[in-house]
Amino acid sequence: SIPLGYFGGIGAASKRGILFKGSNYLDAIANLDAVVFDKTGTLTTGEFKVQQVVGISEDDMAVVAAAESFSSHPIASAITRYAGKDNMSIDDSLLRNIPGAGVAYGNMLIGTLKLLRDNGVDYDKSLNSIPETIVAVAKEGQFKGYILLADTPKSDTANLPLRLKRQGIGMMQILSGDKQALIDKLVSDLNKGGKMHVTGFGDLLPQDKVSHISALKEQGKKVAFVGDGINDAPVLALSDVGVAMGAMGSDMAVETADVVIQTDEPGKVAEAVAIGKRTRRIVY
Ligand code: ADP
Ligand code: MG
Repeated sequence: SIPLGYFGGIGAASKRGILFKGSNYLDAIANLDAVVFDKTGTLTTGEFKVQQVVGISEDDMAVVAAAESFSSHPIASAITRYAGKDNMSIDDSLLRNIPGAGVAYGNMLIGTLKLLRDNGVDYDKSLNSIPETIVAVAKEGQFKGYILLADTPKSDTANLPLRLKRQGIGMMQILSGDKQALIDKLVSDLNKGGKMHVTGFGDLLPQDKVSHISALKEQGKKVAFVGDGINDAPVLALSDVGVAMGAMGSDMAVETADVVIQTDEPGKVAEAVAIGKRTRRIVY
């Protein structure tokens, strides 16, 4: 039978917008070594805005916007919003979604610089070091230009390292499909004041995130992964505690997760750990 204290813990958590799908996860979250976060939509608002379009012709930009109108990624929404309402019609049989990288439309590639690199497209390598999100466009293997987008950290992201450290968590990491230069900047901001040494890895495809979590588990670490869901279901399932940000997260993530945070605040993870620990003290 389940000790009564667990019901108290689950109830206290749910009042704070944290849903535990079982009492076993209260135990698990109280015993974590590492908390690993997705970036987009989890640590940042995911509300991208187009800042600048560089080098892409009007005709190509119309195709890009039309192609992105089929994608549910927040970056895609920002691009279609920027382009305006009336999209040109395109042949959707030529469209291919490339998870964690972008989209392809016929002989056009729209997505990360890494996507271009992996497809042998040449571009000015200094773009790699711009600490902003770039959606690059190539046609028939030729670089055409790029779209600069910005997304901002959520207000409680800056405090996260300190709050997790106070709960005895020794390791905080960020895994992202976005550029390494941008992740480096976010990490260096989080490390100011030296609360906990945060590390971050960019340019990752969804399967790279899976390998990363597997490696941590093989080192014997108890790991929580926190994500908003787009492409996160496999890592949520693999982690000891999968936490979905449910406010904006995908249904898929909410279903796969062990814990669902109903607000858009990543700081709730520290609260969830605190509730787990308090419950253990009552139960044992
Ligand atoms: P994160 O891991 O930070 O949550 P994602 O895995 O969702 O990010 O996406 C990784 C990167 O892939 C994005 O930063 C973006 O550059 C690119 N990307 C993903 N989907 C699209 C899309 N529909 N159009 C253009 N770029 C995309
Ligand atoms: Mg994401």
